[in-house]
Amino acid sequence: MQTSEINGFLIDDFNQYGLAEGKPQGICPLCSSDRQPKNQKAQCASYDWERGLGTCHNCNTSFQLHTYQRKGASEKVYIRPDVLIAKQEVSTKVEEWFNTRGITQQTLKDLKIGEGPEYMPQTGKTENVIKFNYFIGDQLINVKYRDGRKNFKLYKGAEKVFYNINSIIGYDQCVIVEGEMDVLALHEAGIPNSISVPNGATLNSNNLDYLDTCIDYFEDKERIILAVDADEAGQALQQELIRRLGAEVCFLASFDDCKDANEYLTKHGKEKLAECITGARPVPLENVTTFKDIEGEITDFVRNGFKPGFQVGLQNFDDIFSTYTGQSLLSLVFHLAVNRILSIKWLSDTTKTMVGKRHLLHLKMHQLICTHIK
Ligand SMILES: [Zn+2]
Repeated sequence: MQTSEINGFLIDDFNQYGLAEGKPQGICPLCSSDRQPKNQKAQCASYDWERGLGTCHNCNTSFQLHTYQRKGASEKVYIRPDVLIAKQEVSTKVEEWFNTRGITQQTLKDLKIGEGPEYMPQTGKTENVIKFNYFIGDQLINVKYRDGRKNFKLYKGAEKVFYNINSIIGYDQCVIVEGEMDVLALHEAGIPNSISVPNGATLNSNNLDYLDTCIDYFEDKERIILAVDADEAGQALQQELIRRLGAEVCFLASFDDCKDANEYLTKHGKEKLAECITGARPVPLENVTTFKDIEGEITDFVRNGFKPGFQVGLQNFDDIFSTYTGQSLLSLVFHLAVNRILSIKWLSDTTKTMVGKRHLLHLKMHQLICTHIK
């Protein structure tokens, strides 16, 4: 049962962990080797080869079965960091530092974190830095350097993309955070499908070119959970992401008394952090009619049909519909569909155009019509 793509993403390695191919369950690539000898062969994970995802019931996390090639790329040619300089391992000292932030060795390995000397303009000298490697597919696209004083630098001239973007393919939801440390924190909490913006949040300019470059990765997402910082800059970034991705798919997570996901992890632990994400709330929609707003009107139509209003005097036409003051276009369209004057497909297409392809209103109306018109 080999497939070559998932949601338009070409599969690179069909079975990246060498699991029982095509089988519905088997061992977990994340935890089985760490379990007691008698449990190491336990089939604690289920595999969905069609979606390309596995779920483990022991360590309570999910994983991708495949690796993928990059989809969509910028037309501009960028400098590519040298793979050799982006060493993907860290010293014990750095490992210990990550440990104080609640990040384990496994997560550092999974996210291919590196360490090494690098000139930092902020201090004017070469520092020992942590390297966050930005991959798309198997290509190293950028590197974020972080020194001990929390100075940051991206690879000069390299393309800006989301950090950890490979991780969201196949999932119907993903989380967007502000920094790499938050991605690591969420990965630690069993939420591997999280990504971060490359340059944090800034108050005055949120240049989201990286969103255009990576837009294909969001096309199939039903929920995009925004988990940015609570400060003013974070909120400005959140607004811009909502504007660009669409309020109807965006959900907002908050970290209560903490400023970000990593702080929350160190303070409250993995389970609580995961709850912050699962408990994300829909974005309040402004200036948009939601299904709830017109539910009464629509239900009335379904039950009682169209109220006579201004008629044009042509019998056949008035039998079909008439208008009255205050009649909304949506209701009219709905009425026509209920009376099978317009096809469901037409209604579906029209409401799609009217309210955007993923708008809740469209989906709800579609569902309602399908239930009432059989
Ligand atoms: Zn597991």
